[in-house]
Amino acid sequence: MIVMKFGGSSVESAAAIARVVSIVEARLERRPVVVVSAMGKTTNRLLECAGLAAGGARAEALAKLAALREFHFAEAPAPVLGQLGAHFDELAEMLRGLSVLGEMTPRSVDAISAFGERMSSLVVAAAFRERGIAVEHVDARELIVTDGRHTQAAPLYAETYERLAARLPGLAARGVVVMGGFIGSTKDGVTSTLGRGGSDFSAAIAGAGIGAEEIQIWTDVDGMLTCDPRVLPGGRRVRVISFAEAAELAYFGAKVLHPSTVLPAVEKQIPVLILNSRRPEVEGTRIVARGVESANPIKSIACNRGITAVNIKSTRMLMAHGFLRRIFEVFDRHETAVDMVTTSEVSVSLTVDSAARLGRIVEELQAFAEVVVETDRALVALVGDGLGERKGIAGRAFQALNGVNVWMISQGASQLNLSFVIAGGDVEKAVGLLHAEFFTELDPKVFDVAVSEASV
Ligand code: ADP
Ligand code: ASP
Ligand code: MG
Repeated sequence: MIVMKFGGSSVESAAAIARVVSIVEARLERRPVVVVSAMGKTTNRLLECAGLAAGGARAEALAKLAALREFHFAEAPAPVLGQLGAHFDELAEMLRGLSVLGEMTPRSVDAISAFGERMSSLVVAAAFRERGIAVEHVDARELIVTDGRHTQAAPLYAETYERLAARLPGLAARGVVVMGGFIGSTKDGVTSTLGRGGSDFSAAIAGAGIGAEEIQIWTDVDGMLTCDPRVLPGGRRVRVISFAEAAELAYFGAKVLHPSTVLPAVEKQIPVLILNSRRPEVEGTRIVARGVESANPIKSIACNRGITAVNIKSTRMLMAHGFLRRIFEVFDRHETAVDMVTTSEVSVSLTVDSAARLGRIVEELQAFAEVVVETDRALVALVGDGLGERKGIAGRAFQALNGVNVWMISQGASQLNLSFVIAGGDVEKAVGLLHAEFFTELDPKVFDVAVSEASV
């Protein structure tokens, strides 16, 4: 069996879904389990509707929902319109409820956003049926069991793997299995979601649960590229990369893969492929347990904008033990993840990518330290296996970055990344300079040299 996950843009229209059906049809003998995201930008739209409703803009919320309904109706096969209609009626009911309450809980956010994948999976299953291909639709909420951390739920692996192994092989023997990504339910049967971009993670969980031979992530780019194409176009495709490198890139902002995707795959040693649903003939990126030796020390550059840096200074605490603990306890209490940390004798600088609770955090830190918050920072990470053992990488990087102000530097203990914080406005320039430094000559074992020639 293989797992094939198709992202939002790969199922954004009837035409896109027709491409998906053809791609899957060509691989039927591998007994595919198809995991789909919500159609196009549906998740964003649903969250907007919920926000509007809870904020009192009921009519606007319902109008937006009506537009989303029209979009689905225009792209979906006729036999499934009845079911979709019922789902939209239920959504409208929920929005009315939110507008009466005037607030929404993470639990109600999940109930609403889950409709995206509940509906797209029905639509895609119907498209297979229309093409005369045997199909088994399964509600992912019956299979993926999570904890109760709504909007960011974590799978309960033992229970989930048990259910996946019990259900999927039998269904896959009868036809193409289609299920929604992103969604699950708690032990009590309450709908939950795995966090934004979580369909990749669902695919990996499903793959691990059934011991799939391969997990394929079909998206709108040719694979993992040497840089984020939204920041710098013209990056080259990385042909093969290690699990560790891919996880690091995802963690530092390479949106093409959800950061948790790699975990279940590593555990069960299942190769992951990133492929382009618009260009299925391209071989994509293969993520494997051990990367290939490469003449290029860096495999890709990841970046994450909208980072906030927090500088915490305490002269009184000079050399005092327990200072770091006090700082991290504050972040922990407010459930805010810290991405990068650097320390000096009297100060600690760190970055967070969610500033949602920063107000309270700063207040608490100010009880024992001076705090300066710098918004609009970006984190740039150079990622490659064994970076720490290669000589001269940092020298080359900072030489290349001549003229770009670097605020913080960190070389991860994993020896996999060299990362730094710069001003948000410097991202394009920095990535351009670093890309020219590290990717002008390419090792053809690891990078797609042919495409690079065509695209220069
Ligand atoms: P999907 O809907 O298929 O899950 P996403 O939008 O989540 O697709 O992820 C694909 C996008 O990731 C690409 O369109 C690209 O803009 C972005 N991206 C960021 N960094 C990289 C990278 N290093 N390589 C490829 N794509 C990247
Ligand atoms: N539809 C969800 C989102 O937009 C999950 C995903 O597409 O991976 O975040
Ligand atoms: Mg995604």
